[in-house]
Amino acid sequence: AEGLSVRDVVVRYEGTRREAGTTAVDHVSLDVATGEVLALLGPSGCGKSSLLRAVAGLEPLVAGSVSFAGQDLARVPVHRRGFGLLFQDGQLFPHRDVGRNVAYGLEMQGVPAAQRRDRVAELLADVGLAGYARRAVSTLSGGEKQRVALARALAPRPRLLLLDEPLSALDRQLREKLAIDVRDTLRATRTTAVFVTHDHAEAFTVADRVAVMDAGRLLQVDTPERLRAAP
Ligand code: ADP
Ligand code: ADP
Repeated sequence: AEGLSVRDVVVRYEGTRREAGTTAVDHVSLDVATGEVLALLGPSGCGKSSLLRAVAGLEPLVAGSVSFAGQDLARVPVHRRGFGLLFQDGQLFPHRDVGRNVAYGLEMQGVPAAQRRDRVAELLADVGLAGYARRAVSTLSGGEKQRVALARALAPRPRLLLLDEPLSALDRQLREKLAIDVRDTLRATRTTAVFVTHDHAEAFTVADRVAVMDAGRLLQVDTPERLRAAP
């Protein structure tokens, strides 16, 4: 089996003396093929982040299993999964310039400087920021920062990229433009990805397939074309 396989996953948060516990993800199963971009779409609080975090290994599974390329991830620690993460606030390193932000994962992998330079230039071009390597992070707009964060996340060639509302902090016009750019970048780099969003238009733009979630459950999974045609 290739790609990501999520089987009957349950994620639960324990209650306190004052509050009842929450079942955030309630027996969800889905597959993401190699090279495919899947959007996880649903209203705030429906469990999207919890499912993504469970796949990343940041949240324990109460039940079910997650495997990648046929390997059960239960005993694969977070840093060994080879997954990339991108959040709403890309959280760039403020004291590194753009190039050294994108190069970060490559430095960790021990990629030699000359190769790093080429790969950084290529990635910056992919996200529409050719020539930005020497820019200070503080001089970037919000949209540019998220583009750099995307380039940094892609630099180590993650087997799977997990994006959690990566555009939600941006204004609507910029979101629409960036959603197209993210889609094109993921396609150009043949990245397998799960993209969490509460925004229909964004999900339909970015993804090959959309998984619609509500109250911890998966309602349907289909292509944007077929979901649009559905009543
Ligand atoms: P979404 O990403 O769709 O907004 P979440 O996965 O963040 O949804 O949340 C799903 C449910 O789990 C919500 O009811 C939320 O309040 C609850 N929840 C999320 N994180 C925690 C946590 N760390 N502790 C307790 N409850 C949580
Ligand atoms: P160092 O990491 O030794 O401080 P530099 O400051 O020269 O190296 O560059 C920082 C990072 O940004 C390096 O990984 C380098 O490959 C990359 N980089 C620097 N300048 C450019 C550029 N003009 N185009 C693309 N990448 C660059």
